[in-house]
Amino acid sequence: MDAIISGVHRISTRQSGAYVIDGDEGVTLIDTLVPKREHLIASALAEIGRSISDVSAIVLTHSHDDHVGSAAAVKNASGAAVYASAGDVAAVRGEVRPPPPPVADRFPFLKPIIRLFPAHPPVTVEHIIGEGVEGRLPEDLLVIDTPGHTPGHVSFLLDRDGGLLIVGDAAVAKKGEVRRGYMNRAEPTFDASLRHIAEFEFERAVFGHSDPIPFGASAAFRRFAASTD
Ligand SMILES: [Zn+2]
Repeated sequence: MDAIISGVHRISTRQSGAYVIDGDEGVTLIDTLVPKREHLIASALAEIGRSISDVSAIVLTHSHDDHVGSAAAVKNASGAAVYASAGDVAAVRGEVRPPPPPVADRFPFLKPIIRLFPAHPPVTVEHIIGEGVEGRLPEDLLVIDTPGHTPGHVSFLLDRDGGLLIVGDAAVAKKGEVRRGYMNRAEPTFDASLRHIAEFEFERAVFGHSDPIPFGASAAFRRFAASTD
């Protein structure tokens, strides 16, 4: 597990990343990797002297299987409360399939391949979250609505050490610069979400599928935003 800032760690896998906030109220897990990775989450937590039963909250950026995958298993083992956005909650609960990533619209041959990926086990959600929606999130995370990658995609801002943005899949980073990434496309909803992120101040940004931006991250988002006007 890699330390991002004090008390915040990244669990990296080939498919996606998940984030751990080790707090006084317990462990908050942001995203949960693909299905059947609970053992990997458990061994990552053991590195910081924690166990699965210490997880008190599971907070989800969006409903794709590589982020929700192990949520049900971790919840079963810990009793953690689950937080998901209104726009993605039906897919998190398993009532509908998550929408395919936007890249599938550009490359239709990907759709049958994407369907082969294992569906995540349904997850019970206690808290519906969204920007401006009332209710406190663990660690006072601030919700930023970033629709585009999925209809209800959200990012999270942790007000610590100059600000840490947990972007999810709304963007990726390449050599310290913000990019839409392979999974997104240039269209008004996506770019509006990235311009919205650029309105906030934060030193660092971490992503679902790329390396972090370790400093000057909100300036990097503003540079990208300016390029979309
Ligand atoms: Zn995704």
